[in-house]
Amino acid sequence: MNQIMSQREKQIIKTSFIGVGTNILLTIFKAVIGIASNSVAILLDAVNNLSDALSSVLTIIGTKLASKPANKKHPYGYGRIEYITAISVAVIVLTAGISSFISSWKRIFDFQKVSYSSITMIIVVVAVIAKFILGNYFKKVGERVNSKALLASGADASFDALISITTLLSIIISIIWKVTLDGYIGLIIAMVIIKAGIEMVIESFNEILGQRPDGTLTKSIKEDIRNYDGIKGAYDLILNSYGPVNMIGSIHIEVDENTSAKQIYILTRRIQTYIMEKYGIFLTVGIYIVNSDEKTLAIADDIKKIVMSYNKFLEIHALYIAEDRKLITFDVVIDLSADKEEEKSVDIEKELQKKYSDYTFLIRYDTDFSD
Ligand SMILES: [Zn+2]
Repeated sequence: MNQIMSQREKQIIKTSFIGVGTNILLTIFKAVIGIASNSVAILLDAVNNLSDALSSVLTIIGTKLASKPANKKHPYGYGRIEYITAISVAVIVLTAGISSFISSWKRIFDFQKVSYSSITMIIVVVAVIAKFILGNYFKKVGERVNSKALLASGADASFDALISITTLLSIIISIIWKVTLDGYIGLIIAMVIIKAGIEMVIESFNEILGQRPDGTLTKSIKEDIRNYDGIKGAYDLILNSYGPVNMIGSIHIEVDENTSAKQIYILTRRIQTYIMEKYGIFLTVGIYIVNSDEKTLAIADDIKKIVMSYNKFLEIHALYIAEDRKLITFDVVIDLSADKEEEKSVDIEKELQKKYSDYTFLIRYDTDFSD
């Protein structure tokens, strides 16, 4: 686990340093040619590169802080700090975007002569290529080590390559037709920067609020557990993430009612160890039992059929009929997605009582936490 962490940390930091270096160089070159040619578009391009350098610096700081080991006060570790640094980056990007918008707006109404040289052209072309390569590199590493901050920087760098292409076009147009589009190109750049900033804020907020875990992961975990001997079903998988590489969760398994405590103990131990080794997730396993005799299984099938005839229920599990106590207990998962207005009032207990009046029902309503 620690081995994975430090490898990931090293990769993110190395990639971010390359980002800082490239962006500072681009900022200097563009600032010089922007001032020399009196072009607000090129100057804004420089501002944009500077904000990228800053965001890479913040990514480095965030990764360093996030890798701090867990301690008594913060037993879940510091992984979530990465989301906070991602928001700080977003704020910087937004600020750069808004100030760029204002200066471009002013430039449209305060016309000034812009003069480009062939060196301007060459530097902008080199910048496009550099940003394009940098963007792909960030995305590649970001995907491999699952870093939101790197992925965001990668998307940003690719955007910047596009922005510089727009600047290049405006230079070509101004040379051929003697029309200055400088202020308008600046406005486009500013809007692109603002849009990127807003998206980064939304993405980080979603991470902090807690999102539905990745369906491929949750399905694969359930599938693995269902394949164990003696497991009738796996449900209620909950995963809480404390940063990109630290997850804690719980799952409930169904076993036959005659399974002994000893068998259950060994089974849950094996599952926990397996899930930790394969996914690096600390999973708590809860137990449900299901009936084994034919008479109660027939009732169980009937109850499943009645419950599942309502659209608002996605799933029924943990169904157990205790004949000796005349008790029927089960969990139903309620569909969060669709608006089931016409069914909201359905009282499933009342419906079942009509047919099984001599039984008491104990029903739990589960939230649809994972796929
Ligand atoms: Zn349940």
